[in-house]
Amino acid sequence: NSKRQGRNTFSFYTEKMSEILARRLQLESMMQSALERNEFSVFFQPQFDLKTKKLLGAEALLRWNSNRLGPISPAEFIPVAEQNGYIVEMGKFVLREALANAQTWQQDLPYPLRIAINLSPRQFRDVRLLHDLQKFMANNVDPKVQIELEITEGLLLSGDDSVKSTLYQLHDLGFMLAMDDFGTGYSSLSYLRQYPFDVLKIDKSFVQDMGHDSGIQLVNTIISMAHGLGLKVVAEGIETEEQMELLTKLGCDVGQGFYLGKPMPSNVFDELITHFRSLSVGS
Ligand code: C2E
Ligand code: MG
Ligand code: MG
Ligand code: MG
Repeated sequence: NSKRQGRNTFSFYTEKMSEILARRLQLESMMQSALERNEFSVFFQPQFDLKTKKLLGAEALLRWNSNRLGPISPAEFIPVAEQNGYIVEMGKFVLREALANAQTWQQDLPYPLRIAINLSPRQFRDVRLLHDLQKFMANNVDPKVQIELEITEGLLLSGDDSVKSTLYQLHDLGFMLAMDDFGTGYSSLSYLRQYPFDVLKIDKSFVQDMGHDSGIQLVNTIISMAHGLGLKVVAEGIETEEQMELLTKLGCDVGQGFYLGKPMPSNVFDELITHFRSLSVGS
């Protein structure tokens, strides 16, 4: 009997695995034409100064609305694109879209707009990255726009010296650097000191854990230590007013999350810009 059960378990897993594999292959086969058919778009999620409640800018987030499968989450397709290399092409698309919009929005804002862009390890290691970023900067963007590049801990853990040198070059070129999803990997704050980061993004799992005292203490510690290292702190995944208020009290600099604003298409973000322009002109 136990033998039989074992076999059933085995076939359950192989079925599950071939399902996952089939889906992966399907996404992969659709990716190239999806790029050509404009199924991708870039959404923008607003970021606010928690103290002044001023709109600071946005994080650019890639969206895929497939003609055949409907919306597909980046959590699903980015790892596939990362593996087959399409991420480099997609990343250029995000950069182009994000910077074109930032350029327009900046003209309407009396203060510098920041635009955050995610870079995955494959993009980061692409030799053309520095060149492309430099070109985009030089030709398309108002120098007032602050471009923040978000990377995750995984990239650093490769222990690769060229990663460090690329980070320093990007920083010297005027890009701000953010450590995304901090706390989900293995790196410590003191480890980050050897890199030229400007911003630390506290992962949403920590924000969502602030329902009890130990969770609040942990976030408090991260914020104080980050400030001690001269880093600005962004909290992501703020879903409630309580979370926003707590984070503000703890001195967190910037807030992002569904409570403050969901990722939205650029024409909807236009309205936010218009609103904040009128506020700043009025004051
Ligand atoms: P991320 O960079 O950490 O982006 C934040 C994710 O949290 C986004 O998911 C956003 O929609 C979601 N989020 C924002 N506020 C809340 C909230 O209050 N509650 C909850 N539960 N979630 C919230 P999204 O857009 O699905 O992206 C998932 C991940 O895919 C991103 O995580 C990023 O790692 C990757 N990604 C997205 N766009 C790009 C891109 O253009 N390039 C690269 N390389 N990666 C991207
Ligand atoms: Mg991010
Ligand atoms: Mg994140
Ligand atoms: Mg992430």
